[in-house]
Amino acid sequence: MTAFVKKTIALVAHDHMKAELVDWSRTHIETLKKHNLVATGTTGGLIAENLSLEVHRFKSGPLGGDQQIGALIAERKLDCLIFFWDPLNPAPHDPDVKALLRLCSVWNLPVACNRCTADLLITSPLFDSDEYLRKVPDY
Ligand code: PGA
Repeated sequence: MTAFVKKTIALVAHDHMKAELVDWSRTHIETLKKHNLVATGTTGGLIAENLSLEVHRFKSGPLGGDQQIGALIAERKLDCLIFFWDPLNPAPHDPDVKALLRLCSVWNLPVACNRCTADLLITSPLFDSDEYLRKVPDY
């Protein structure tokens, strides 16, 4: 018998990807509702407004929001990152984007950077089950 484990999920999308993340969130709203949601400022505002989901909003990404989410990862307070970064347009905060993705690898955190991966991640029966324990590296 498996038990449900409530997760903290971070949602971040660059400007040209925001509509897709809102649409993805709509598709998975029943799952998202069961978890704690955090987001960068503008992304979080759009999700809260369009889907009436409760989202803790950090600063906007270019103003430090990516780094705030990175801090959550380092403090082991985040379980999953859905990060629709824009592969076709340069971002002023590219170093922060890189740093955020790097921390996902440092801490073995599940991260989805496109819709397909995000679909597979959030629909996995292991996503919110106590059957799977993420191995957090012990540095
Ligand atoms: P935003 O930040 O949600 O505040 O637009 C996203 C980002 O660019 O990292």
